Amino acid sequence: MSEAGFRIEIRGTVQGVGFRPWVYRLAHEKGVAGRVSNDSRGVTIEAFGSNEALEDFVRGLRASPPPAARIRALECLEIPPDGGASGFVIVESRTAEGLQVSIPPDLPTCADCRREIADPADRRYRYAFTNCTNCGPRFTIALSVPYDRPATTMGRFPMCAACHREYDDPLDRRFHAQPNACPACGPRLTAADAAGEPLDWDDPIAGAARALRAGMIVAIKGLGGFHLACDATSSDAVARLRRRKRREEKPLAVMVADLAGAETLALLTPGEREALTSAERPIVLVRRRPDAALAPEVAPGNPFVGLLLPYTPLHHLLLADAGAPLVMTSGNLSDEPIATTNAEALEKLSGVADAFLLHDRDIASRCDDSVVREIAGAATVLRRSRGWTPAPIETAFEFAPPVLACGGHLKNTFCIGVGRSAYLGPHIGDLETLDTLAAFESSVARLEEFLEIRPTLIAHDLHPLYATTSYARSRDGVRIAVQHHHAHVASAMAEHGLAGPVLGIAYDGTGYGTDGTSWGGEFLLADLTGFQRLATFRPVGLPGGDLAVRQVWRVALAALEDAYAGAPPLERLGLFASIDPRELALVRRTIRERVYVPLARGVGRWFDAFGALGLARRESRYEGQVALEWNLAADPGDTRAYPWSVDRSRPQPEIDLRPALRAAVEDLLARRDPSAISARFHKTLAEATASMVAEVRPHAADAPVVLTGGCFQNALLAERTLERLSPRKVSVHLHRRVPPGDGGLALGQAVVAAAIARTGGA
Ligand code: ZN
Ligand code: ZN
Ligand code: FE
Repeated sequence: MSEAGFRIEIRGTVQGVGFRPWVYRLAHEKGVAGRVSNDSRGVTIEAFGSNEALEDFVRGLRASPPPAARIRALECLEIPPDGGASGFVIVESRTAEGLQVSIPPDLPTCADCRREIADPADRRYRYAFTNCTNCGPRFTIALSVPYDRPATTMGRFPMCAACHREYDDPLDRRFHAQPNACPACGPRLTAADAAGEPLDWDDPIAGAARALRAGMIVAIKGLGGFHLACDATSSDAVARLRRRKRREEKPLAVMVADLAGAETLALLTPGEREALTSAERPIVLVRRRPDAALAPEVAPGNPFVGLLLPYTPLHHLLLADAGAPLVMTSGNLSDEPIATTNAEALEKLSGVADAFLLHDRDIASRCDDSVVREIAGAATVLRRSRGWTPAPIETAFEFAPPVLACGGHLKNTFCIGVGRSAYLGPHIGDLETLDTLAAFESSVARLEEFLEIRPTLIAHDLHPLYATTSYARSRDGVRIAVQHHHAHVASAMAEHGLAGPVLGIAYDGTGYGTDGTSWGGEFLLADLTGFQRLATFRPVGLPGGDLAVRQVWRVALAALEDAYAGAPPLERLGLFASIDPRELALVRRTIRERVYVPLARGVGRWFDAFGALGLARRESRYEGQVALEWNLAADPGDTRAYPWSVDRSRPQPEIDLRPALRAAVEDLLARRDPSAISARFHKTLAEATASMVAEVRPHAADAPVVLTGGCFQNALLAERTLERLSPRKVSVHLHRRVPPGDGGLALGQAVVAAAIARTGGA
């Protein structure tokens, strides 16, 4: 009685998310016959039935896919009706074609699984590894492709009869749920004390919650690595965690039981609520309530706090038992990669944790929590890792041949481009230690294995001394060095499907320029293969080189020497009262004699200089601390700007902030509040940026503007700049899905290298 046939091809995140069983159930419901199968690019359905039933079926496909699925494209093709087709079947995976069989990202525990673990009558009551096709681990347990149980770290847990029945039943929520498990057959929790000796807690989660309530620090094995947890309401516990972790001031993330718990700590916008509860479950930077019951040590002097919701059954149970928000910070010492194995955690965290909550399911791929914040009214990814990795970013450009982009030096991620898909790797961190470098290399190898390719087109930063540059040199193939700010701009272009030319505005701390000096306040007329530098900033000296990035007072001093032609009113400025007079005299002399004072054009350095002066802060204890605090100090109610000028005698026009610095010093000497001075500094940058856009416009025709670089994680700067640019009727693009900072660099490198290879430039 079949009257028509459709072949339906669906692309997007449709594998490993319960898609085929859902199609199966929908076909049954609508009385449609045929088959559904996974293939290398997604899911293909052949459906037969009456026209009415088929239309109804397709409507259903579009309307209500499983929670974790994302349909990018659904194509419907008429095919001859199949008179013989009666039932509807799920065809086993075909994997021969290999390429681009995607392993899905990890998914947060679904509502059905949450109900089961809370139900004393359920066989999964309080079971920390409960999952189904709609939720659970994916990327972090996958060892190789195709994504099937034997190729995951669940392979060594044979399913019991009850789990097997669920796994085999197309009408069950756990049909083909690869990590399916229960207390009888699956992974188990154990606990250990600070020395690694087993603790005989009956219920390790209840035991850990007890320890946390008593003010202890517990290392907890999570999804993509270990967390260090403590009671976020206890000043004593948080201060101890900071001391032991050697993380003095950097803000710590806090996990709350649910959205209602988040509302008691922070003032949430609708977009922030959506980000907190999204399938990626990132850390969301939100404005803390003044009366929030949180220890001030969680984020000292910071009006924001990073909140996240539970995303595994273990988290849900732990948060419920603990009855308090918990600090959940990555389980590492400063600068090291997050620990993933029990042995590694016991070794490296033994001086930090009072107890360990462990389990026997291995973490195959390290994957830190992601970070999101709202900028100019929309969620922006600042760290793209767990929840997103390894889902690709689809671009408008072809990666042919496939390319590996090695990323930058700090906040490293890498990227593999194949077809039109850009696969960004997980957050690796700062490549300052051998351990991080090893993590980088193994992470690259793992993703190459998943994609079953080993690219021979290798993109890397132009900086000759970056670890990633040496790594690129160690690879066979064609290497393409991409200038840092060109990569930032190209990353924004890739995200927005812009082929160029664009007017790229890249503001960050530092990046190696084509002239060998440090850039970071750049106006680039760019397409994917190259750029022309249209304007930049007047540089500031870094007395002592990299030392000045930490000891920001040195940058402030160099900027003042420049602004006051060697006669700055140092004795009247609070900042310098705290500097040893001999050291001050010495550094002044190095500046005057230009002994070791490399010049830098990074806008981030101006944040350091103004911040050091305005807040009387000598040093950043973590990367970008003073710049961040200067941003947070601003009172958005003050909308005045300082004067600045443009030096047109240079090869490119240079924005000169010396007049602004002198005006800020006047304000400081007049005892104006730093919140006003900071606001004026932000406004000045926005004004100067917009007026430079107007000045270089004749060279850039009607090219759209992209704002990129780490400085545009600063919401106030981004918003002020947008305000100033929008009346000028240019289209302006900000990053949303890819970090504006160096975490987004690899994507830009990948598209640039691909474009150069395409045009035969390499
Ligand atoms: Zn579930
Ligand atoms: Zn079982
Ligand atoms: Fe950068």
